[in-house]
Amino acid sequence: MLGAFYGDVIGSEYENACTKDYEFPFKRESHFTDASVMTAAVCRAILNNGKNIGKFGVRKRAFEYAAQYKQYYSRYPHAGYGSMFTRWAKEKSLRRQHSYANGGAMRAVPIGYAYDDIEQVMLQAKASCYYTHAHREGIRGAQAVACAVFLARHGESKELIRKFIAEKFRYDLSYTIEQIRPEYSFDSSCEYSVPPSIICFLDSTDYESAVRNAVSLGGDADTMACIAGGIAEAYYKNIPEEIRRFCDSRIEISLKETAREFNLKYKNT
Ligand SMILES: [Mg+2]
Repeated sequence: MLGAFYGDVIGSEYENACTKDYEFPFKRESHFTDASVMTAAVCRAILNNGKNIGKFGVRKRAFEYAAQYKQYYSRYPHAGYGSMFTRWAKEKSLRRQHSYANGGAMRAVPIGYAYDDIEQVMLQAKASCYYTHAHREGIRGAQAVACAVFLARHGESKELIRKFIAEKFRYDLSYTIEQIRPEYSFDSSCEYSVPPSIICFLDSTDYESAVRNAVSLGGDADTMACIAGGIAEAYYKNIPEEIRRFCDSRIEISLKETAREFNLKYKNT
């Protein structure tokens, strides 16, 4: 699970100062952002209640996810959230917001780890978006990421993952990172940022190359590296020690604790 957090940390300093350099240096100022905080919030919601839901249980479950988003926001209010999410998180009442941005997708990695069948992964991802990303594209992005993690952790091949995600979510995954890098620019909509994040993993050879692919697209670097890193960890099951060391010191301790508690319960099960 920490692979998503580490991607966020490594990409953090490149979200505003974009780079197209695959060999970019890891910056000393790197830090965790909203992607890590919200991924931890999803971990917590699942740790509190890991039960399966049915089609009619989405709304009730959605409330539990949303409660954690608000709570984690209030604990880490300066982690770099989008303005729409900030407004939503600050409100006392619980309102549905129809965002099509990648905020739902960036926190969906734990869902792919926690549930035992793909239909449950789909339902949980939908519930996780119900209050913040109640938009066709917002939900599709979260479901695609969670399903990619689910397939990767079950040892499915990259070709199967590509085919499954492309067919189920109607995403074009037929290009390479090299082909799109020159023209790619910052856009935090799901439609524009989730498919390339998945390709960053498909085009990778190990965890680090997935994250380097994501950051070197020169887009929403931390969010895309969080997604690509989350899928890559599920697939390669190995993160280099230097990356762990670099990132661990830059993630707040209780976020790491939540991720570790989640790992103990769900990893390799
Ligand atoms: Mg971002």
